[in-house]
Amino acid sequence: MSDEAAPPPHFIRHVVEDDLRTDKWGGRVVTRFPPEPNGYLHIGHSKAICLNFGLAADFGGTCHLRFDDTNPTKENVEYVESIKADIRWLGFDWGPHEYYASDYFEQLYQWAEELIRRGLAYVDDLSADEIRAYRGTLTEPGRESPYRTRSVEESLDLFRRMRAGEFEDGARVLRAKIDMASPNVNMRDPTLYRIRRTPHHRTGDAWSIYPMYDYAHPLSDSIERVTHSICTLEYADHRPLYDWLCEALGIYHPQQIEFARLNLPYTVMSKRKLLALVEDGRVAGWDDPRMPTISGFRRRGYTPEAIRRFCERVGVARTDGMVDVALLEHAVREDLNKVAPRAMAVLRPIRLVLENYPEGQVEEMEAVNNPEDPAMGTRRVPFSRVLYIERDDFREDPPKKYFRLAPGAEVRLRYAYLVRCTGVVKDPATGEVVEVRATYDPASRGGDAPDGRKVRGTIHWVSVAHAVQAEVRLYDHLFTAADPAAAEDFKASLNPHSLETVTAWVEPALAGAAPGSRWQFERTGYFCVDPVDSTPRRPVFNRTVALRDSWAKVERA
Ligand code: ATP
Ligand code: MG
Repeated sequence: MSDEAAPPPHFIRHVVEDDLRTDKWGGRVVTRFPPEPNGYLHIGHSKAICLNFGLAADFGGTCHLRFDDTNPTKENVEYVESIKADIRWLGFDWGPHEYYASDYFEQLYQWAEELIRRGLAYVDDLSADEIRAYRGTLTEPGRESPYRTRSVEESLDLFRRMRAGEFEDGARVLRAKIDMASPNVNMRDPTLYRIRRTPHHRTGDAWSIYPMYDYAHPLSDSIERVTHSICTLEYADHRPLYDWLCEALGIYHPQQIEFARLNLPYTVMSKRKLLALVEDGRVAGWDDPRMPTISGFRRRGYTPEAIRRFCERVGVARTDGMVDVALLEHAVREDLNKVAPRAMAVLRPIRLVLENYPEGQVEEMEAVNNPEDPAMGTRRVPFSRVLYIERDDFREDPPKKYFRLAPGAEVRLRYAYLVRCTGVVKDPATGEVVEVRATYDPASRGGDAPDGRKVRGTIHWVSVAHAVQAEVRLYDHLFTAADPAAAEDFKASLNPHSLETVTAWVEPALAGAAPGSRWQFERTGYFCVDPVDSTPRRPVFNRTVALRDSWAKVERA
């Protein structure tokens, strides 16, 4: 499957196609992505972004970016800017269609007065706790507020004074007058407006009352003449209210359609929880590469192509489920395999001394930059008598089928020579192997012996005298529990080993690697130069993903 392939059909596409066929919306397709600017976007949002922008693009429509900024206590401009940057990075463009629910505050207010005049809304003086108590339960009907029957004039007067800032936060609310006995709790006179004498990041202190999401959302959709208002399944129970509001006001009425949220295991995907991790210093910020945020994935080295392809493959379902992380990792490997230049880096080094290699001699070995793409050419890597290899690539007591270095065993040094281990040097105090000794076969330059003897193992290396020290960050799941949110305290299952930092040695060409550039370190994975902490003096590499591809195995099986 490639980006160019036709997107797989799903039920929302079918709805849009049917609507075009029956001319339900006069040939228009208008979708929207409506984030609340109270945090950074996460990978779940990217599914909604790909879906909404993708449908608009596929059917010649438009997709609006609308900030649902109705709660001034939690929202700010940093979040607005990060959301825009992340959507652009994913490859989508809203053109001139950047909207804010706060731009509609006056119209929303006027409609609220209209509902009062029509006898469909009232000001309630019950406290929040009382309203909750009166609401009833799933099995018991609610009770009507004593204020429900107050006159239109009185409600109008109180509502205007709420707006004017005459009352304390929480003193009163505006509620829709629907049905306290409705089996759907959302229809039991839902709150439409509450008092919040808090300045707003866009409207300043113009407002003392703010609309609830369930009120602002459908009416914003209506103002923008959205055709398909696509949201996640938990809003299915709110759809009757969405429809009721449009009908009660007799205004343009978009169609709400629900789809399943994207969930990934071993992480959390609620902005409130992600914010708690940031505020408690459990991670280095919203863009910490362990975070499931779009900015975290970007800093970790994911490509927008990989995330888009992942979202496409996940598909659009009508029931919630978990998606295997391997599917996401597969998408990024697939992409980076084609584009990431190869390099050699030793993450956990041990010295390898070639006893018969002349002291002071340096050879430039020709190395392929990307076997998948000959156009990426070759480079020269300095080789000398003393090298670093991975500690793991040597075993004093090798298990069966261990084809790397061991006393007496022969191995191929990538792009260089065959070498045979002659012994080790140990730390006399601890007995630990601190150096591996070997001889090289000068006739095997390039990696093949003239006598045709078979050597199965190939390992990577760097020359000690030429290598550059780098910090390498290796990541594991942020949580040890598959569903951390299921526990009372989701932080209880934070993985103490989610970040491991090692001091590695990398080939000299990597010293100048551009921040954000992506590489494959032979045999150890894909890495990205950290755009924040890396310096030419001390490059920092984040491991995007290891090379092992469990998904490919699953697919083959
Ligand atoms: P959170 O729980 O993280 O705060 P939210 O739904 O409150 O998420 P919004 O900013 O309101 O966050 O989300 C904007 C849009 O993204 C909504 O239409 C929402 O349905 C969609 N969305 C949020 N999370 C997911 C998810 N996990 N999968 C798919 N779509 C999502
Ligand atoms: Mg929301």
